[in-house]
Amino acid sequence: MSEQWRDLQRGMYGRALPVRPALGDRVPARCPRGHDLAIATARSSYHHWYALTEITCGACRALGDPLASWCLVDPGKQYDAKSAPSSGLILVRTPPAVRGGVGQIALWVDGEVQADLDLAMCGPCRRAVIEHVRTDRPRWGYGRVLVAAALVRAPPTVYRWSTTRIADDPVARAFWSGISWPGTLGQPDYCTDMDSAAGRTPD
Ligand SMILES: [Zn+2]
Ligand SMILES: [Zn+2]
Repeated sequence: MSEQWRDLQRGMYGRALPVRPALGDRVPARCPRGHDLAIATARSSYHHWYALTEITCGACRALGDPLASWCLVDPGKQYDAKSAPSSGLILVRTPPAVRGGVGQIALWVDGEVQADLDLAMCGPCRRAVIEHVRTDRPRWGYGRVLVAAALVRAPPTVYRWSTTRIADDPVARAFWSGISWPGTLGQPDYCTDMDSAAGRTPD
């Protein structure tokens, strides 16, 4: 399919929008700009291209804010690559090959990867480490949806979370400071299973 045709087709089904995680598709109390939606008023509709719920903040819309509309992604809804739908915006999970190994959660739009996150997790040791978050569209919420999806897999009430070194740039700093990260940042807290899965320690 040519890019031009694809853009045309997408235009008929909706425009590209930012996303936010919303467990169980619950409409949030506030818009991404922080407006209380009970006061600002919100409109809910269906985004056909993404196959997701779209929310518009009445206050942001009146002000012409480009973030006025966004789509809700349920971070608990994750597909295996084999059973993943080929259209819409979805989360696809690839489990690690071995215990403590690195798995992946990816955000697909129409079957194409737009963002992904690498994750080491160990159930017996109750530890989880985010190794990498990559996105083609910084500041669109893809990264925060992926982190929310990772936290669903290993709830921070039970698991100790950490990350590998964080890039020293303003985009990374804005990202990690804006998502209510429940773990430690920049210092991976690996267990011995993760170390041996990654070949960091001799058997
Ligand atoms: Zn707003
Ligand atoms: Zn372990």
